[in-house]
Amino acid sequence: MPLDKDTLRVTLLGTGIPDPGINAFGTSTMIEAGDEKVLIDCGRGTVIRMAQVGFPIGFTDTVILSHYHSDHYSGIFDMVMTGTIRQPWSNRGGPLHVYGPKGIEDIAEGAWQVTKPDRDIRVADGESDPEDMRIIPHVYEEGVVYDRGGLVIRAIEVDHGEFIRPAFAFRVEYKGHVFVHSHDTKYNENLIANAQDADVFIHEVAAARPETLANYPKVKIAIDHHSTPTDVGKVFAQTKPKIAMLTHLVLLRPDPMKVSEVTAQIAEEYDGLVMVAEDLMTIDIGKNISIIPFHHGQLGNLEQARR
Ligand SMILES: [Zn+2]
Ligand SMILES: [Zn+2]
Repeated sequence: MPLDKDTLRVTLLGTGIPDPGINAFGTSTMIEAGDEKVLIDCGRGTVIRMAQVGFPIGFTDTVILSHYHSDHYSGIFDMVMTGTIRQPWSNRGGPLHVYGPKGIEDIAEGAWQVTKPDRDIRVADGESDPEDMRIIPHVYEEGVVYDRGGLVIRAIEVDHGEFIRPAFAFRVEYKGHVFVHSHDTKYNENLIANAQDADVFIHEVAAARPETLANYPKVKIAIDHHSTPTDVGKVFAQTKPKIAMLTHLVLLRPDPMKVSEVTAQIAEEYDGLVMVAEDLMTIDIGKNISIIPFHHGQLGNLEQARR
């Protein structure tokens, strides 16, 4: 399905957590609107998920990172290196612009070192321009990070724990359509204030049984960085999105809670529709809101990427 010029398209490439599971890769979300294409977060396996939906690696040269947990940026090194290969599935043909909170310069500098051996080989072979393997760092703070072609992406400072400051959620707007993604955060008033009137609001969640919390101190540490189902229910009740969706489900072991138990707890606070995100889902926010799972949608995206 070609992208309508008035539609904001969101493709959930990765909806997972650090656990290396095959069904949910590290967080990564492709935003398309008009001629604009921006990737938000670049977790493990991003380029594989992009290939699955027919996006060449060079589909965008712009990445925005929410915070520096590895499940949100470990895929960036693969993207910056493999993206330089001159093949139809890759073909970036320029550096990668990466917007991040303070510290992004360190990642850019580190990437330049990490990619050197591969770069030296490919440059010697005349395969690529060394500058194509550079990350150009851009530091952002709360407020507008991206404003081009009618697409506006605004960073909202959230609370993901005292050693992960700053961390950001994003509000994405295009022609009156609104998509909000919490990324990683505890219950947060600033996010609630900035997530009003969303067409689609995707929020993370973390859950553990009371006995797990009592017996495993590390589980308590993990939960303290995230939003419980009760928290998420309160956030949705206070923001009333048209579509509420869960992502980044941290269901702590042993004896992890079932997703149906998580949604039952959310229902104590919020009586609206709650969906659960999965990798490769396409969300089109236009004349209506269409949510298309991969097995129905991938052919449409392939066509579009090949145009
Ligand atoms: Zn995470
Ligand atoms: Zn995190």
